[in-house]
Amino acid sequence: MKYVSTRGDATPRAFSDILLEGLAPDGGLYLPERYPHIDAATLARWRSLSYPDLAFEILSLYIDDIPAADLRGLIDKTYTAAIFGTPEITPLKAIGDGLWLQALSNGPTLAFKDMAMQLLGNLFEYELARRGERLNVLGATSGDTGSAAEYALRGKRGVNVFMLSPHGRMSPFQQAQMFSLQDANIHNIAIEGVFDDCQDIVKAVSNDLDFKRRHRIGTVNSINWARLLAQVVYYFAGYFRATRSNDEQVSFAVPSGNFGNICAGHVARSMGLPIRKLVAATNENDVLDEFFRTGTYRVRAASETHETSSPSMDISKASNFERFVFDLVGRDAARVRELFAQRLAQGSAFSLSAAERDRLPRFGFASGRSTHADRVATIRSVFDACGVTIDPHTADGVKVAREQQEPGVPMIVLETAQPAKFAATIVEALGVEPARPAAQRGIEALPRRCVVMAADAGAVKRFIEARVA
Ligand SMILES: *Cc1c(COP(=O)(O)O)cnc(C)c1O
Repeated sequence: MKYVSTRGDATPRAFSDILLEGLAPDGGLYLPERYPHIDAATLARWRSLSYPDLAFEILSLYIDDIPAADLRGLIDKTYTAAIFGTPEITPLKAIGDGLWLQALSNGPTLAFKDMAMQLLGNLFEYELARRGERLNVLGATSGDTGSAAEYALRGKRGVNVFMLSPHGRMSPFQQAQMFSLQDANIHNIAIEGVFDDCQDIVKAVSNDLDFKRRHRIGTVNSINWARLLAQVVYYFAGYFRATRSNDEQVSFAVPSGNFGNICAGHVARSMGLPIRKLVAATNENDVLDEFFRTGTYRVRAASETHETSSPSMDISKASNFERFVFDLVGRDAARVRELFAQRLAQGSAFSLSAAERDRLPRFGFASGRSTHADRVATIRSVFDACGVTIDPHTADGVKVAREQQEPGVPMIVLETAQPAKFAATIVEALGVEPARPAAQRGIEALPRRCVVMAADAGAVKRFIEARVA
């Protein structure tokens, strides 16, 4: 399998060539040159597989430059009951009225990003050892991404992590999760500023190409293809759990921000998984809902981006969205360049042509948005109906799922975080603190490793230099 860029660079690249990369050199995102089609016999055979076996089958279709036994080993040490809590890895729970919750948030950081990031950590370590290289991951986080990256890369050979976060602005739980890591290769840097300052520093350091090359600076952000690929697996796993036969269809509702999670659903559907609808649920930051309703994609200014009680969906643009648009326009890279490199660079929006809008329904997307009041009411109603506490992001998913349900079609809501991570909203909805998994009890009291720094790219560079030289 070769990979191409959504903006037209067709230099054939293998999986391990793009594994450690971010954007393609032309500014596009990588996608496989085609989606393998899963025939009925294969889908029937997959129905009875364990999660790691299923992951191996799917990943093997896209990764042909890692020996099968090695890939198997990496998958087997990633998707274990010890790391994800159950042998099913992503178990389903019925919450009534044809709705299911698929648990993706039982990994080490209690959010779905662990599903992909834990595999990425093992793939990085493997590939760096194979090449005899080292990598210094530099990132900015306001919460979930940074902790998932740190828990995936802690103690891994050949990798250091330098993670910037806005000083004093993450929740006490998130701070404790990250700063209590004692691994020598994990470096927490709290920046005196806001999240945008952290991101600006990452950009400034990455734009210093000489520094970047000399110190082998890389990222693990949500546009990484390997992350997306790992997420394809649980759509298959969820489908098999919610149905008895492969003649049935299901729909998925996905709490969405950067369009990474639901884009994996789009890949699964493109491979032939019988998905009826892919429902994008947004919060007040409704860039995606607006697109699916109107055909216009409008990036928001920072001043228009709301801070909400489902903070991991607070986005101004959806960084994986270009992948879907590439498929929507029939993989016409010139059209993608026109929309993303020209229109979005000049203004802040583009609209699909009439012909492109006509193609949209065949991709199965639907959408809706949710507000703080909706989240609180939904957390309450799910708890009242079946005694299950859901987190605010998952509540956005359930709210929109209910609007988009069709009789006879199971609707699977992807549970993207544990309620313990967002205690304040749970208390507002239910009047009680959410229960915490045993591993996270008392983490606020653990010793911390974190340096506080001014919002100064030069200081961050000197800090990195002193630790990797
Ligand atoms: C990251 C995240 C999301 C959004 O996922 P995308 O892939 O960015 O669309 C939703 N919920 C939680 C809890 C997250 O951490």
